[in-house]
Amino acid sequence: MTDLLSRATRILQDVFGYPAFRSDQAQIVTHVAAGGDALVLMPTGGGKSLCYQVPALLREGVGVVVSPLIALMQDQVAALKEAGVRAEFLNSTLDWKQAQAIERRARAGDLDLLYLAPERLVTERGLALLDDLEIALFAIDEAHCVSQWGHDFRQEYLQLAVLAERFPAVPRIALTATADEATRREIIERLHLREARSFVQSFDRPNIRYRIAGKDTPRRQLLRFIREEHAGEAGIVYCLSRKSVEETAQMLADHGIDALAYHAGFNAAEREARQTRFLEEDGVVIVATIAFGMGIDKADVRFVAHVDLPKSVEGYYQETGRAGRDGAPAEAWMVYGLADVVQQRRLIEQSEADETYRRVASAKLDAMLGLCETVRCRRQYLLEYFGEASAPCGNCDNCLEPPAQFDGTEAAQKLLSCIYRCERASGFAFGAQHIIAVLRGERTDKVLARGHDALSTFGIGADRDEAQWRAVLRQLLTMRLVTVDHEHWNVLRLTDTSREVLTGARRLTLRQEMPRTPARKGAGRPRRKSGPARALPTPAGAAGAPPSPVAAPPLDEALFQALRDWRRGIAREHGVPAYTVLHDASLREIASQRPRTIESLAQVPGIGATKLERYGAAILAIVRAQVALDS
Ligand code: ADP
Ligand code: ZN
Repeated sequence: MTDLLSRATRILQDVFGYPAFRSDQAQIVTHVAAGGDALVLMPTGGGKSLCYQVPALLREGVGVVVSPLIALMQDQVAALKEAGVRAEFLNSTLDWKQAQAIERRARAGDLDLLYLAPERLVTERGLALLDDLEIALFAIDEAHCVSQWGHDFRQEYLQLAVLAERFPAVPRIALTATADEATRREIIERLHLREARSFVQSFDRPNIRYRIAGKDTPRRQLLRFIREEHAGEAGIVYCLSRKSVEETAQMLADHGIDALAYHAGFNAAEREARQTRFLEEDGVVIVATIAFGMGIDKADVRFVAHVDLPKSVEGYYQETGRAGRDGAPAEAWMVYGLADVVQQRRLIEQSEADETYRRVASAKLDAMLGLCETVRCRRQYLLEYFGEASAPCGNCDNCLEPPAQFDGTEAAQKLLSCIYRCERASGFAFGAQHIIAVLRGERTDKVLARGHDALSTFGIGADRDEAQWRAVLRQLLTMRLVTVDHEHWNVLRLTDTSREVLTGARRLTLRQEMPRTPARKGAGRPRRKSGPARALPTPAGAAGAPPSPVAAPPLDEALFQALRDWRRGIAREHGVPAYTVLHDASLREIASQRPRTIESLAQVPGIGATKLERYGAAILAIVRAQVALDS
């Protein structure tokens, strides 16, 4: 091991309490610590922060971190202080006196890391401060904010180019989780990073299990998912509308789940209060529109649920990426149905935007629908979308319980010809519900009034229930073999390509809809309550630390809860989010290893020297008390 790497590893272990670097981290850290510039692309939760925190501690002077999100900045600083690092931030939440005190400490060389809001850095006062400091490095977090095409564009980020000119000898590291090539080029260009070495990491999040199921009673499905698989755990539920956010949160709360609504309709103070509860307390479920999430740095989110269809794979991946940043098993769970497809298509068709935009939006939606309907590995599909090849993952619903497929040609023909016959008989078209009623041979008022019980297609689909017909229709819609006329009460119409199916020239393989109450096989559900099942197929980017072949002893649930209670007290006392004191992953490890000595406690990932000194005795006392109770 090089000298630099061994010093870096020692800091990783002593300060942060982690045994080994993850995949690219070691290379990045040594490259920057040796004075090189770097561009780092890593998925959310990949571990970007250590890439600049460790070199900042290795090099002389203070590491200056530019970060656009105040909440994130504050949490990071709180976490660093918990680990015994001399870190501070300068942003608009500080009054003049507080800011001055921090500037003084920086000038006195009393800081390891200084977090700065970009608008503050680029002022004369900000630059003058930097002139006075010995700077270890500049880290530019969320570097995609320089991209004028991206949705997070920040004007002040463009001015960060000044750093290259004004401080040519200081290494700069730019970091982002936004993957695409165009953004990467923009970052290099605008931040003058042409000489920088690029580190592009896989976007895979192996600890996240992807599951997408048909929607029938979404709220009940959600309730069951949370109760049976994630009781007492933190999660995010995404809904499309404010109304749906409020109703869903209310429903969960009525069933005893600690759920909170969050959307742009609340005022800033109210939003902040809700966000803080989610961040700082254990096991809160936040029900939100997509307005929630940017800058949410909560490591122990155990699930992200979608009860409405996201507009794009990018959006879906970003939202689901908020689960499991601590590397422990987490789930991305979604239900979707026919109405989602219809609604999203309508939103695009009826939008005021220009033709190009609508074409792009429509292609993105199709890719999202493709993810929902695919019978292949979901992860493979996702990574492929981001230009990455991979093998089937073994940790998504399609891998764990391969979906049944069937030759759907005949079913499709029945449905298409029923649409055709109804329209021809009456002179106008009908919606999904009526078409399915005719297929199933139901004598509804409408069927009788129209005389559709006399059609040749009446009752030819009695072998499938309504949900199954909806699933067939949903798939025909995603393949554009049927369209919905949004201008006319959402009636169904054939398309130019329907004919190929009707004549039998084109055969279709469809995904079989699961029966209404699926008898879940054990494999489909992570068994959360026992220790060994927590072992991952491939631990999150833990290339440096292969999983131990010996199964971990089972988790002591009572001890785990006792530790969380203790942690909540400390977090409240220090006024910081609970996970900055210790991550769930660390508590879980303690609750299964039950260390009895300071030496064995020091082996637990996430417990560095400072935490050991501060909390070691308290933790051992809790373990002892619990073990005594058990015996
Ligand atoms: P990002 O900024 O890339 O989203 P973070 O830097 O917040 O990710 O890291 C995500 C989580 O992974 C954090 O909880 C962090 O403590 C943890 N982590 C990062 N690197 C390591 C490592 N080498 N070993 C163990 N945990 C790590
Ligand atoms: Zn898979």
